Amino acid sequence: QDVINRIAAGEVIQRPANALKELIENSLDAKSSNIQITVKHGGLKLLQIQDNGVGIRKDDFEIVCERFTTSKLTEFEDLHKISTYGFRGEALASISHVAHLTIISKTKQDMCAYQASYVDSKLRDPPKPMSGNQGTTIIVEDLFYNMPIRKKALRSPAEEYQKISDVVSKYAVHNASIGFALKKHSESNDIRTRPKSNHVENIRTIYGNLIARELIEFSIDNSQFKFKAKGYMTNVNYSTKTFQFLLFINHRLVDCQVLKRSIDQVYETYLPKNSHPFVYMSLELDPANIDVNISPTKHEVHFLNEQQIVETITSTLETKLLGSNN
Ligand code: ADP
Ligand code: MG
Repeated sequence: QDVINRIAAGEVIQRPANALKELIENSLDAKSSNIQITVKHGGLKLLQIQDNGVGIRKDDFEIVCERFTTSKLTEFEDLHKISTYGFRGEALASISHVAHLTIISKTKQDMCAYQASYVDSKLRDPPKPMSGNQGTTIIVEDLFYNMPIRKKALRSPAEEYQKISDVVSKYAVHNASIGFALKKHSESNDIRTRPKSNHVENIRTIYGNLIARELIEFSIDNSQFKFKAKGYMTNVNYSTKTFQFLLFINHRLVDCQVLKRSIDQVYETYLPKNSHPFVYMSLELDPANIDVNISPTKHEVHFLNEQQIVETITSTLETKLLGSNN
């Protein structure tokens, strides 16, 4: 049974960066305003995320790592996240099958923090009281220690760190009201944004002023296909080797190749050969229209009226781009 669980978990958690993505989502769900991430050896030795969110109650420690417990938990009754994300409460359970997982957490109500370790989704010992501030620290150690083949298939620690940094960068731009910090163990922060910041400031901090100073804002509110899209795109004075596309659909970081390709095509007409734009877009769709049957690791998303929505977005961006060019 453990072997089967482990294989299933390995499907959900494919590499350090997507384990971290799930952990960041959890911290955001917990209404944190500050999220600090520490990484050792590309996330394989250590992946730690500390937030100041609502915390986990002592009584819930027992079940947070069981699969599909999501909506049973006390602090989370009002969350609309299931309909928004279509994701099924298995991130912590999966991580506990393929790594050493420790959780430290304190809620507002509890007098002190509690710490507990998990093996194969079970508490190892009852939660131990300790001192600590409100919020949650999730410590993931020795990821894939029991999956040597998976571990071998990963890239170098430097490349895995790059993927982690990419995920943190994108979340930090999208969630500009929240302070993010990312550092390699014992080094100074690689990424640091301040709370109550804004998208442009964070793009400047993380992606540089060359991009930030060329940004054009866009905002679409379409009643026909019931969607909103807003964000920033670079104008034709800026180009980069690869298309940097930060896409959030209903606040979840996703890929949508159809949209990506069609935006890139717009720029192809105006940019020098082999150069590409930077686009950050927050797209909001009726959750009922998003294909929720995608597995949590397949970040590729499809939705109803995809072709029409993509065309509407693309033509708006093209108009903006031409306007800025004159
Ligand atoms: P899901 O997020 O889909 O519910 P997870 O396995 O990611 O499933 O998390 C399980 C539960 O653990 C969450 O529903 C939440 O109650 C609790 N939890 C996880 N991380 C945090 C956190 N950083 N702060 C507060 N609660 C958390
Ligand atoms: Mg989660």
